[in-house]
Amino acid sequence: MSQKTEKHEFQAEIQQLLDIVIHSLYTDKEIFIRELISNASDACEKLRFHQTSGKSIHEPDVELKISIATDDNANTITITDTGIGMTRDELVENLGTIAHSGSKAFLKQIAEGKEKPNANLIGQFGVGFYSAFMVAEEVKVHTRSCDADKPGHTWISKGAGTYEIEETPDCPRGTRIFIKLKEDDKDFAQKTRVESIIKQYSNFVTFPIELNGEVVNKVSAIWTRSKSEVKEEEYKEFYHYIGHDHEDPLTRLHFSADAPLAIQSLVYVPAKNMENLGISRSESEVHLYCRKVLIQSKAEGLFPEWLRFLKGVVDSEDLPLNISRETMQDSALMQKLNKVLTTRFLKHLDELSRKDSESFYKIYDQYHKFLKEGVATDFTHRDNLAKLLRFESSTQDKDARTSLKDYIERMPEGQNEIYFLLASGRDAAEQSPYLEVFKAKKYEVLFLYDPIDEVVMDHLGQFEEKSLTSAEKADLKIEDEDKKTEQLSDEDAEALAKWAKDKLGDKVESVRISTRLVNSPAVVLDSDKTMTAGMRRMMKSMNQDLGPVKVDMELNPRHAIVSQLHAMKSSNEILATKVAEQLYDNARLAAGMVEDPKTMVNQLNQLLEQVLTASK
Ligand code: ADP
Ligand code: MG
Repeated sequence: MSQKTEKHEFQAEIQQLLDIVIHSLYTDKEIFIRELISNASDACEKLRFHQTSGKSIHEPDVELKISIATDDNANTITITDTGIGMTRDELVENLGTIAHSGSKAFLKQIAEGKEKPNANLIGQFGVGFYSAFMVAEEVKVHTRSCDADKPGHTWISKGAGTYEIEETPDCPRGTRIFIKLKEDDKDFAQKTRVESIIKQYSNFVTFPIELNGEVVNKVSAIWTRSKSEVKEEEYKEFYHYIGHDHEDPLTRLHFSADAPLAIQSLVYVPAKNMENLGISRSESEVHLYCRKVLIQSKAEGLFPEWLRFLKGVVDSEDLPLNISRETMQDSALMQKLNKVLTTRFLKHLDELSRKDSESFYKIYDQYHKFLKEGVATDFTHRDNLAKLLRFESSTQDKDARTSLKDYIERMPEGQNEIYFLLASGRDAAEQSPYLEVFKAKKYEVLFLYDPIDEVVMDHLGQFEEKSLTSAEKADLKIEDEDKKTEQLSDEDAEALAKWAKDKLGDKVESVRISTRLVNSPAVVLDSDKTMTAGMRRMMKSMNQDLGPVKVDMELNPRHAIVSQLHAMKSSNEILATKVAEQLYDNARLAAGMVEDPKTMVNQLNQLLEQVLTASK
């Protein structure tokens, strides 16, 4: 070096940092390329800003770009930008002192033993430049500020204690970082290796990145552009690329916000729910960027678990810069992002359901299970999720589905709760004895066909302050005017109930007179008020031992079978007992409590025999 060479010592903290970088980091070393490209991109961005502010700059016509050159004979890699460059003082300040809060936080974290040193931390804490020393035997920085009056400089260091600076007059504007690779790390002098690293981390950097003279980043970061500027085709193309999916997505949300956090995000819903195909649990494929540079691929915690089917990107410059990088680790910040993003996405689905119900239902059909999982597990978003639920209902056409909100709007005066009925399908629901009282009162009942739906309703509890109640548990009465004339007197009915309980014995917990039945002679209800037949079936399928089912039976005093049974119990008690047992079995069958209907055949045959004998 010439006589103008100055020797400097690294600040103690920087040396400490360098020691960690050089001696303790063995994995993910490739991120040094991401970090240097990120710095180069920042430098270009700063220059562009300078240009727009009208200041005079050195070499104003030089194109803003990043060039990378590899040399696998000399084992070197060089990263050059035409950005803002550094003056001598800036070199000392930026590459020799701990002026950056990020570096301080990084050291503190490691000193406190909170984190084992690892390369990923480097990016998060903004010690980016020093990451070059993970792979470098020596780093040489040639830089010239855009300030026309300032000369260029060269900065050299091996990372051990000192660095040297000398003036380099014929330096072009910008910064060139020349790395002589360590023997063990010479694969970073391989073009193909470097190319795949650039594609992985830096594909969306706005400035062209040339590798050995060829531009390698071809996909633009469309999420940072305004919606009106992005063409439909570009959205699709970007999805195909980032989602590794050849099908078009079902919907997308391109959204940006300044407060409470600066967010630019573009997320898509894939056409197919992979979990439906039984492959495996989906893993979120939303990647976290900071100003177009990948910070974390498949970032955990950006969205709740139940939105794990989303694919796309979230870019937030707040994370590493304004709030300082260490807070990126801070889960409170991640939770804040998560909440904003999730709320916005649910709003998008809600809007879609009104503006384009066909698209909404395509999404719903693929992903309703995830939304229901959300209702059951995520209190924060429960109410917004509930708005998206859709069910068939007793008053709507088959296949037409209703929202809870629309259901409430149709509720007649006097109805205060939302009712639902779990059944195996539409026909079963319509023929269910539990539905009769609702038909008589002209109350709508939602039809649920999946036991999960009942669990969802249970978790939800209420919607817009209306309780969600199982039709099996509803406390409703058919009013006097609905009653038929030939009904049993209250006294006779009570006597019949008592007699039936006596005959059925332990099979039933109790027998009472029903106020809810119209066309069915009898119904059974789980005596456990918190349990419906569907829940019981589901728990059983999960091998949960619930003990024997205890049921209450209700008899319909308005039904011909019941009134005749009353008469028969005095005239032919044996046959009457058989009929009562059969009524009980039929009711259990209707309630879906009979696991093997074949067991009923014997009983039925006995009954037929009695009937034939009696009528001889
Ligand atoms: P950060 O990028 O988070 O600030 P780095 O350690 O990556 O931290 O870089 C430290 C500083 O060095 C940067 O803030 C910047 O001022 C300066 N710097 C690094 N690389 C360049 C470059 N290519 N051009 C201009 N300045 C640079
Ligand atoms: Mg940096």
